[in-house]
Amino acid sequence: MTDTRAASATGGTVSAVGIIRISGPKALTVADSVFSAASGISVKDFETRRTYYGELTQGTQGDGSLVLSKEPSPLIDLCLCIVSRAPSSYTGEDCVEFHCHGSPVVLGEVMQVLFKLGVRQAKQGEFTKRAFLNGRLDLSQAEAVIDLIEAETPAAAANAAGQLSGAVKSRMGSIYSRLLDIMAHFHAVIDYPDEDIDEFKMSHYSTVLSDINSGLTQLLKTHNRSTVLKGGLPTAIIGRPNTGKSSLLNALLGYDRAIVTEIAGTNRDTIEEKAIIGNVLLHLIDTAGLRKTNDTIEKMGVDRTKAAISGAGLILFVLDGSEALQSEDYDILRSIPPDIPIIAVVNKSDLPQALSTKELDGLGVEHSKVSALSGEGLNCLDDKIQRLFPVNEETAAQGEIITNARQADALTRAITCITSASNALTESVTPDAILTDIEEALSAIGEVTGKTIREDIITRIFERFCVGK
Ligand code: GDP
Repeated sequence: MTDTRAASATGGTVSAVGIIRISGPKALTVADSVFSAASGISVKDFETRRTYYGELTQGTQGDGSLVLSKEPSPLIDLCLCIVSRAPSSYTGEDCVEFHCHGSPVVLGEVMQVLFKLGVRQAKQGEFTKRAFLNGRLDLSQAEAVIDLIEAETPAAAANAAGQLSGAVKSRMGSIYSRLLDIMAHFHAVIDYPDEDIDEFKMSHYSTVLSDINSGLTQLLKTHNRSTVLKGGLPTAIIGRPNTGKSSLLNALLGYDRAIVTEIAGTNRDTIEEKAIIGNVLLHLIDTAGLRKTNDTIEKMGVDRTKAAISGAGLILFVLDGSEALQSEDYDILRSIPPDIPIIAVVNKSDLPQALSTKELDGLGVEHSKVSALSGEGLNCLDDKIQRLFPVNEETAAQGEIITNARQADALTRAITCITSASNALTESVTPDAILTDIEEALSAIGEVTGKTIREDIITRIFERFCVGK
């Protein structure tokens, strides 16, 4: 039998409401010993998922083993209590929630009382882990819970909500079952050669496998978009010193994060911040100005700039519009790997312009005129970024974007095995070789949903959660 655990589900800061969650076989008994409903109904007789108002005390009643004191018990809080019962609660176990006033002191006192009654502190992610182990959620849904909590954009939240409602689970479920069908048929034919079982229809299996392969490949491709949705698109703000890189960072953030001076070479390190620009979450990296220098510290800054460029998913190349393009600007352009999208941000549009944007057109470089000082043109820059990295809210809402590296890795392995099974089919390799590939594909797909996954990996996954979730 599992033990009963509790945790604050609302963190340790002062708030209007603070929730203590209890889950496990003794949840109702323990709650009964500390909570007295104003209506006089005992917790054990509460209707499931109905809210009851009452007094939360140090505990006077219980099942004998839990009695703390026969004296009238000191009041901790006037609060609400909600019961949900196994197996249809969040964790699949009996659960009780106390919705208290959000004082860390009050919540701490409630926890102390629960500990005295034999309840233990829940570990990180333990409630969701129980939900997974009790079959209330599959692993893709459990991972969506943390994605939903940590979402930084509406689109990321929508994608996580879609996955929580079972988008990945149902896709994986149907693929899993189609592969199982093939396995079952192969086994039947191999193990019972004398039975009158339909012979292998190779062309049928080829079609099914190629169908599954393209479905998985399509899903895996969405992972490319996950950085835009989740951690933010790494965006290096680069250019010569004094073109206005730090001013642009500040303008995009809406506050003065970086020091702005007219002294070239002031910023010698990278500054990183996140911002939602044109609906896209950018992980902005303001870099040291790129120029030839003998200064040791500035050289280190330039090296960091180069590293930021090579890891970037987008480059904002800041140019000073009040000056003509210079040879150093051309050098910088040439140093950017060709596969990284660039937007030349022609800054200082409030000054008389000397830079010819036709030159940029001739180089095939996308550009946007702005004044980081006045904010003019920033909207157009937002639009350009949004057009380059469209966040398809509809796809996100369906939970179709794979944002999880573990899931992407499992999908990659499944695709490799199914490709190998398909090749074996066309090359008329013996059925058991094909079966081995399909079995491995099933195991990889089972890792996404949690059907076939090692205990230590499960533990690692739930360690990412906060306590109380
Ligand atoms: P960085 O070295 O590229 O990071 O450039 P800074 O952001 O430190 O700016 C260098 C100088 O250019 C500072 O004096 C800024 O005030 C000035 N500057 C930056 N953006 C603009 C702009 O849009 N218009 C004008 N007139 N000056 C700007």
